Amino acid sequence: MTDCLFCNIVLGKIDSNSAGQNDLAFAFFDIAPVAPIHILIVPKRHIENANELQSTDAEVLAKMMSLSQELAEKHSLTDKGYRLVFNVGDDAGNTVPHLHMHLLGGRRLGWPPG
Ligand code: AMP
Ligand code: ZN
Repeated sequence: MTDCLFCNIVLGKIDSNSAGQNDLAFAFFDIAPVAPIHILIVPKRHIENANELQSTDAEVLAKMMSLSQELAEKHSLTDKGYRLVFNVGDDAGNTVPHLHMHLLGGRRLGWPPG
């Protein structure tokens, strides 16, 4: 989608601090981090949000997960743990309508969310 912020980040038309990628997923550091490590992992193809995922998206979701595992390892998060979050819709505070998984770590994270 030409007017989508994260599509344009994937295409390199908008700058980001890249964290890694594979053939179907791209990762970049969140511009307003809420944890010492805060990375967004997105599908390269536009998908609106987690509620719009179809069974035919299984491979892209698997590639987002494998990228998150690589990044957790790279940033030394696997021993102490980390959190993966999909926000969906207003009540969850979802602001960007392109599917993204937050990878959060590097400090003790509160639960339940505020
Ligand atoms: P969400 O609230 O789940 O929709 O998360 C959207 C996230 O995108 C927020 O954590 C923002 O800080 C982040 N964000 C917005 N614009 C950018 C950008 N240009 N580069 C990196 N992260 C961004
Ligand atoms: Zn998009």
